[in-house]
Amino acid sequence: MIPVKAYAAQSPTSLLAPFHFDRRDLREYDVLVDILFSGICHSDLHQARDEWGGSLYPMVPGHEIVGKVIRTGEKVTKFKTGDTSGVGVMIDSCRVCNPCKSYMEQYCQEGMTGTYNGYERDKVTIAQGGYSTQIVCDERWVYQVSDKLNLAGVAPLLCAGITTYSPLKYANVATGDKVAVAGLGGLGHMAVKFAVAMGAEVTMLSTSPSKAKDARELGAHHFVLSTDEGAMEKMKSSFDVVLDAVSGNHDYEIYLKLLNVSGKLLVVGLPKDEPKVNPFELIKNRRSIIGSMIGGTVETQEMLDFCAEKNITADVEVIPMQYINEAYERMLKNDVKYRFVIDMASLK
Ligand code: NAP
Ligand code: ZN
Ligand code: ZN
Repeated sequence: MIPVKAYAAQSPTSLLAPFHFDRRDLREYDVLVDILFSGICHSDLHQARDEWGGSLYPMVPGHEIVGKVIRTGEKVTKFKTGDTSGVGVMIDSCRVCNPCKSYMEQYCQEGMTGTYNGYERDKVTIAQGGYSTQIVCDERWVYQVSDKLNLAGVAPLLCAGITTYSPLKYANVATGDKVAVAGLGGLGHMAVKFAVAMGAEVTMLSTSPSKAKDARELGAHHFVLSTDEGAMEKMKSSFDVVLDAVSGNHDYEIYLKLLNVSGKLLVVGLPKDEPKVNPFELIKNRRSIIGSMIGGTVETQEMLDFCAEKNITADVEVIPMQYINEAYERMLKNDVKYRFVIDMASLK
């Protein structure tokens, strides 16, 4: 077994605190990654506090992982010792159903194996995530990362990046499209960068007036306060796509109304409570609501390569592991610019 240091939640109400556990010895297709940086996703907080129900404890969150390969199993072909690599939101799946065969493992019909807060395929071991010094993972779910990029800024690409890249690609966002992004947090700021890189005219919809300047620096062409009813009314029926990356409870209505004919509301935000949807707003303009979960292994590598080519990384605030509980509180106050990333050297 491989002993690792970590931070874990022991219950929905406990603070995250130091925790030790063992990773499995390497199987033939496994890679051992020494973790350099681990991003903090709002999903970590939702799950550590059991906001979606069914959380398993002890829980080591973290699914935005970047590190160095330090050992490989006998049959590993993708990696060698010293390679820079990443691990995201999943670490395994059934591998034989149709979505798995087409590399959309996140939609595995048996359920994907999450990086944490779930059982591994043996149905006994609780998977533990990236707030830890090392991780063991089958090479299919480990990605090649370019050394050209700032690695702290790469970590969030493994969840915030792919989760926004995938639906924008699915919606065929292209030059001249009018795209709005709701919620300027970790996911939202990546959505702005990607939509701009895909050639869209991008409007940031935010509840925080203080983020206007940052939104423009991120590349957004316009900034509108989603709490300003008059400004929202003026924009009705004018967007091809609205990407909803909001973490808190909200109704879809205010974003749906913005969609033009055949417009798409791309939902990635996962608040605790279920939003209401008025069917009259849906039939108007033949609007649709499309949910999207992270992205598959092939698309995740494609997104990382796209980022290396276009020099795209997340804007990050690097913190030591010991700051995690304060970081969670700041995330709840919408005070993240625009992703916390843990420097794992602080735990070694
Ligand atoms: P985050 O960094 O905390 O950002 C969320 C942003 O949403 C906030 O900064 C805030 O932006 C806005 N917001 C929060 N509460 C709001 C409310 N009640 N009404 C309107 N806006 C509100 O969170 P994140 O890490 O980007 O994650 C966003 C959501 O996506 C979370 O629910 C997370 O669980 C989910 N997620 C889904 C997937 C997937 O596969 N679909 C993957 C990862 C994460 P402003 O200050 O600009 O208003
Ligand atoms: Zn995430
Ligand atoms: Zn499957």
